[in-house]
Amino acid sequence: MRIIFIGPPGAGKGTQSLRLVEYLGIPHLSTGDMLRQAVVERTPTGVLAGPYMDAGQLVPDDIILKLMDERMRKGDCGRGALFDGFPRNLHQAAALDRMLEKMFGQALDAALEMNVDDAEIIRRLSGRQRTDDRPAVIAERLKSYWHETRPLLEYYRQRGVLRVIDGIGTQDQVFDRIKAALGRQQPV
Ligand code: ADP
Repeated sequence: MRIIFIGPPGAGKGTQSLRLVEYLGIPHLSTGDMLRQAVVERTPTGVLAGPYMDAGQLVPDDIILKLMDERMRKGDCGRGALFDGFPRNLHQAAALDRMLEKMFGQALDAALEMNVDDAEIIRRLSGRQRTDDRPAVIAERLKSYWHETRPLLEYYRQRGVLRVIDGIGTQDQVFDRIKAALGRQQPV
């Protein structure tokens, strides 16, 4: 299965992604994790991306697309993958469709939207320890989510693959909703 997760920062995508990849036996492709690792290792990608991340802005598409293209060529995505934090705008979504078609001759199976309201997001993020979780940066990340990422919901709704998940509740409850939304897909 090829699945993407869409949702504002703090919606719980990261936590649920880890459970889902274990359940489905597919690799977890998190652009946020890859970028943070690149920053720590001071690779050229990390040096370019760091300032955007610190400001809560999207990293330019050419950097992201190169990163994803290289990652998807590693050979472990043939049976599927979970994309977490990618795509983040319509240009990236169109690029992902092209990459999946070209590399695997496949389309996306599901786009999961984690639905959590802004008040809850701010409450959750205020309790985290990440350097980009300062209030001004949180506001900037929410803004970029609303302006650039939310249009993806319509893009995937039109393709019939959007599944909306209520992200409020215990981790187990949310995970059960995800499995139900995927049609109780058997692990591969
Ligand atoms: P969150 O969902 O909590 O914002 P992520 O770990 O997904 O966290 O992303 C952290 C930061 O990495 C983002 O604020 C952004 O700067 C950058 N980033 C991650 N994925 C992308 C992407 N697909 N396109 C552009 N920037 C990205």
